[in-house]
Amino acid sequence: MFDDVMPGGGFLVATVPLGRTLTREKLTDMQKEFADVARKFVENEVIPRVDEIEVKAEEDGMPLVIKLTKQAGELGLLAVDIPEEYEGLGQDKTTSMAIAEAMYGCASFGATMGAHAGIGALPITLFGNEEQKQQWLPKLAYAELISSYALTEPGSGSDALSGRATAELSEDGKYYILNGEKQYITNGSWADLSIVFARIGDKYTGFIVDLHSEGVSRGVEEKKMGIKGSSTCSLIFENVKVPVENMLGKPGQAAAIALNILNLGRLKLGFGALGNCKYAIDLTLKFGSDRKQFGQPIITFDMQKGKLADMVADTYAVDALNYRAVGDIDKALEQLEHDDTYFDKMIQVLKTYALECSISKIAGSETLMSVANSAVRMHGGYGFCEEYRVERVARDNVVDTIFEGTNDINRLTIFATLTQNIFGAAMPFREFMENLDSDLRNGKVGRIDAEGPLGDEIADCMAAKRVVAYAIDHALIHCGKNIKNDQQVMAAIADMMVALYKMDSTVARAHQVMEDIGEKKAATHLDVARYICYKNGQIICNLATDIIHSVVTPGQLSQKLSNLKKLIACLERPVNVVELRRRIAGAIIEAKEYNL
Ligand SMILES: Cc1cc2nc3c(=O)[nH]c(=O)nc-3n(C[C@H](O)[C@H](O)[C@H](O)COP(=O)(O)OP(=O)(O)OC[C@H]3O[C@@H](n4cnc5c(N)ncnc54)[C@H](O)[C@@H]3O)c2cc1C
Repeated sequence: MFDDVMPGGGFLVATVPLGRTLTREKLTDMQKEFADVARKFVENEVIPRVDEIEVKAEEDGMPLVIKLTKQAGELGLLAVDIPEEYEGLGQDKTTSMAIAEAMYGCASFGATMGAHAGIGALPITLFGNEEQKQQWLPKLAYAELISSYALTEPGSGSDALSGRATAELSEDGKYYILNGEKQYITNGSWADLSIVFARIGDKYTGFIVDLHSEGVSRGVEEKKMGIKGSSTCSLIFENVKVPVENMLGKPGQAAAIALNILNLGRLKLGFGALGNCKYAIDLTLKFGSDRKQFGQPIITFDMQKGKLADMVADTYAVDALNYRAVGDIDKALEQLEHDDTYFDKMIQVLKTYALECSISKIAGSETLMSVANSAVRMHGGYGFCEEYRVERVARDNVVDTIFEGTNDINRLTIFATLTQNIFGAAMPFREFMENLDSDLRNGKVGRIDAEGPLGDEIADCMAAKRVVAYAIDHALIHCGKNIKNDQQVMAAIADMMVALYKMDSTVARAHQVMEDIGEKKAATHLDVARYICYKNGQIICNLATDIIHSVVTPGQLSQKLSNLKKLIACLERPVNVVELRRRIAGAIIEAKEYNL
């Protein structure tokens, strides 16, 4: 095992990063202050007006949600990612993510603000030239102008770089003439500008497009399942004159812009989902404590406690892995010199964390989906009615699994990045496997010894890494180049990586809390770590067994399964999960809120 955790899945072959990850407990006063400002703004200004936002009410001649976005701008909440030299606040990514987390409770507002300040502004920060930054960023920092991001087309969704919009240089060489249609564009009806992708010949290229230009029209609003208060429509470009100086980056750089912007977008989505998980838990706690059946609050029924414990533990895992990922990204960014190539280097750093960003997106959105689903069911019939907010949380969340790259596409990203790093020796996977194979051959497979109240869980993580690596190695050996046709195997590998990152990050965070406040006060953190390790250990063992069954030839199957069983045996130990769930739920019920 290696102590250095390389980005791009290096945690697979590294020790549990005890004391070496960012956790929410380590946020600085400044970072907490930004999150508090965001939370108070949402609580005081946004949540009381959710019903109006959802029907796209207008105020002062503009959509209410846009008015609120401008108000958030006045508080500086849109300027954190924008460098100070362009009138932004130039804060680190952790601050930006803590704000995203705090924005829970109205996903329509979150999507509007996110499309503006995230995918709508970040391409200019990262890929714009000096003039473009001077021209646009100060106006975006405080929402004087509203932005959007137009990549998707009717025939080009997941295959995002296959768009057919065209940009032809005008005869006088002053403009690109833009033609094409973009679909499902957040803020489409309201935005003043858009980052639009179009082809100059065969070179797919980004442009900053003024949406008030002649030839731009906007389609009708989509009738959506959720985030109904946000705008989603098509943008149609007919011979739109885009000044040549509005080209973003270089011709043919669309892939670099689109894919790198998505990395931070995915992480932000993971943080937004985290906030909404806590929101759904708190709504459920309140409802379940007030609502009585058979003479007792429904939250005190054992079965409901079991569900609550799952909601809490899964949310904790997302919290731990999100802050770990952004903390690692910030640490890498801090090393960069602030010279002319700073943003190029920043893009490279973000690229190396593509895998962790995809995990955050999948873990966040899918945890929220299950948390919201449990929240609705725990509300009974009330959960099915609009008046109770969990109904909206459940509907709004579905799109989190679709945009910023569907979760399927994110699974493919995890697989592609991981294998690239394995084959490119960017992580010491081969050495890890050589040790593992040697231990199997010499009958030396066993649990590592780790001390302390989380010793068993640390040993679980290390054992789980061996199970995951064994399955990956066999999938790569047996499928060879054909693995690109074995998407189910690729998805299973991605899911094992998600489960492993949850375990590893949860144990690291709980350990840190225990060190800080002592074992007794950290009791619920430790219980959550125990439960997350048990739960995700099971997921990993099942997926690894599926993979070995599916990829290994019949002649070798029994020997490979026997090896796998030896590795899985290192994860098997007595865990009273029912008791664990009761304790976790009991602590949260007593606290009357998600307080971890
Ligand atoms: C509310 C909303 C807001 C949006 N906002 C924006 C925006 O602001 N800007 C923008 O550019 N886009 C936006 N989008 C578009 C969004 O990014 C796309 O919907 C998404 O990328 C999926 O593309 P698609 O809808 O064409 O689905 P498809 O690509 O057709 O996918 C359909 C299904 O096939 C699966 N699939 C596709 N390819 C593969 C593959 N290779 N292997 C396995 N499975 C595959 C997908 O996972 C999915 O389950 C928005 C969408 C919505 C719904």
